[in-house]
Amino acid sequence: MSAQIEKKGKEAYLRFSNLEKLGFLKHCVTTRAGGFSKAPFDGMNMGLFTEDSRESVLMNHKRAAEHMGFQLSDAVFTNQVHGDGIALIDEGFTGEGFWLGERALEKDAIITRLPARPIVAFFADCAGVFVADPVQKAVGIAHAGWKGTVKEIGRKTIEAMGEAFGSKASDCHVAVGPSIGPCCFEVQEDVARLFSQLYGESVLHRAEKPGRWKVDLWEANRIQLEQAGVKVENIEVARLCTFCRDDLFYSHRRDKGKTGRMAGIMEII
Ligand SMILES: [Zn+2]
Repeated sequence: MSAQIEKKGKEAYLRFSNLEKLGFLKHCVTTRAGGFSKAPFDGMNMGLFTEDSRESVLMNHKRAAEHMGFQLSDAVFTNQVHGDGIALIDEGFTGEGFWLGERALEKDAIITRLPARPIVAFFADCAGVFVADPVQKAVGIAHAGWKGTVKEIGRKTIEAMGEAFGSKASDCHVAVGPSIGPCCFEVQEDVARLFSQLYGESVLHRAEKPGRWKVDLWEANRIQLEQAGVKVENIEVARLCTFCRDDLFYSHRRDKGKTGRMAGIMEII
């Protein structure tokens, strides 16, 4: 099992094999290929909160929505703040389709069981954790940078789906999206220690500089999901490094903050 890159005109979308086969949802992670944005956001910047032109970002969103087959006005956007807040989008949710971020929810995870309510989160270096429960027909997206990974946002998202929808971790299929990889994600001792305490030494590699470590966010999230009760065979990790793959992805660290965002999108059909 591995993630597939699907080309559509100049654009390219990433899909996870394990989510694709479930049938009750549509999903993708956008890439920077194609799109309307100019440098340094060049390509398909989906970031609502970047300094890119709003017109370009809107056109990029329209292109992705068209590709996925939904109305942009039905989508619910989140603005990630590196916390562990989870937005539940249910029938009582009153926020009508958001328009370029003015009313985006400041949450790091978003869950729903509503059909035709695409949920959208944004990434550049942080991993998306995409959860699909085919039994209760529910989905969730978590934003797991190093802070979210240490705060166990993936596990908390599955637990929130349990409370809201009756989802069981053992039924869930989960994909971990592109992020800065163990090749490139260097941290200091204090951050490294947080990871080894939670996920063991296997998620750390010594960096060249003394006192610095390289962290494997993919493996840390995989271990976390397994600890949460997700079956090993139901976890798919894209293993694509946003820092290395400048042809496909924005990277906050590589581009020193002046960069765009990929969007992770899930919609129950
Ligand atoms: Zn890398």
